[in-house]
Amino acid sequence: MFVRVVFTAILLGATLIFQMRHRDQAVEPVVTIFYFLIAAVFFLSILYGMIFQRVKRQALFAYIQIGIDSFVVSLIILITGGFYSMFSFLYLVVIIYASMILYMKGGIALALISSLQFAGLISLQFLSIIPFADAVEGSGAFNPTIMQIIYKVLITSSACFAVAFLSGLLTEQNRKSQHELRAMEDHVKRVEKMAYMGEMAAGLAHEIKNPLASLVGSIQLLREDLHYDQDHQRLMEIVLRETDRLSTLVNEFLLFARPPAGKPEMLHLQQAIEEITSLFERDTNHCKRFSLKKALDPDVHVVMDPAHLRQVLWNLLLNAAEAVSPGGSIALHTIALKNNEVSIQVHDDGCGMPPEVAGKIFNPFFTTKPDGTGLGLSIVHRILEAYESRLDVQTELGCGTTFSFSLKRSGKIR
Ligand code: ADP
Ligand code: MG
Repeated sequence: MFVRVVFTAILLGATLIFQMRHRDQAVEPVVTIFYFLIAAVFFLSILYGMIFQRVKRQALFAYIQIGIDSFVVSLIILITGGFYSMFSFLYLVVIIYASMILYMKGGIALALISSLQFAGLISLQFLSIIPFADAVEGSGAFNPTIMQIIYKVLITSSACFAVAFLSGLLTEQNRKSQHELRAMEDHVKRVEKMAYMGEMAAGLAHEIKNPLASLVGSIQLLREDLHYDQDHQRLMEIVLRETDRLSTLVNEFLLFARPPAGKPEMLHLQQAIEEITSLFERDTNHCKRFSLKKALDPDVHVVMDPAHLRQVLWNLLLNAAEAVSPGGSIALHTIALKNNEVSIQVHDDGCGMPPEVAGKIFNPFFTTKPDGTGLGLSIVHRILEAYESRLDVQTELGCGTTFSFSLKRSGKIR
């Protein structure tokens, strides 16, 4: 909107200079129309500025504004000679900013609208419904032939579409790389935050771990030796259950805060995953029934600590199993990518997440489950850091969730 006002101001200046140079009667009507146009654009700009904040459908608003712009361009072309006008390049300007704001779709739409307007305009001129104005610098009373008309329209509209396509391509690329950049930024922020929190808390957790172990041991001994009644039995159970929970939490937390360095070794990815999933399917802790589908590339090797791979997949599979309703399905894919990496994806058709939840799931201790620790994904994140890999999530509320990460493939292929 701002650039439009600047442009119109320049046009106003140019018109003023033009009028001063040509003080004859012939150009008077054209200049008057120009002033009308300029006034109209200024008026519209003020109007846009006033309602801008209140508009809900911004894309539609942009389409309307840019559509009007293309109409104004057509008017400018009309009064500066139509067929002879040298202002048809203004369509290209409109198309370029249309695709900057509305992407490829907007650019192509504007190219179509502009071409139609130009074709209409020139046809009307050819049919003598609109005169060939020769107000501007004696373009002469030359009537072009039908071939010249068609040629001109074709050239102009091809230029429009070519510009729309090229600038659309650029803006789409730009949009993609910005998206990628944002994902990277989020990742780096998470890494920093986790490292910081980990440093602080790992020491504390470590200090808790040892006393807790002696506590559990002593209570178990006491339980065997002491004689007490039913009530005490119940209390004892609570003490044991809670200490158990506490030590799970501390262990998980340590895993997150100080992931063990691990001993990377060459793994046949398919075999490794088969082992992990068969253990997982036999685990009775998540007795909910789900079906696990696998599509694993047979020829992929990676260098990774098997315990790390197990921890990562286990946490992701566990979350998936907790997200699906009975009878739901989980799918595990490995896809060899062209850049010598392999993408590993865990997909479930479970509850999914709303955006406000999805933004927080990598925060340590963030959980939506009554007895969750909120550390599962943080642990995955920390482990993958060591392999320069990044955990990505795609989710839709009610439809399901896909977690994916990629690992470098190792040289031993086939
Ligand atoms: P926890 O499982 O202990 O809650 P996690 O770090 O594993 O901790 O997960 C954090 C949160 O992310 C979960 O509480 C849940 O809300 C969400 N989440 C993780 N995986 C999924 C999934 N596959 N489907 C839906 N929500 C998920
Ligand atoms: Mg979990």
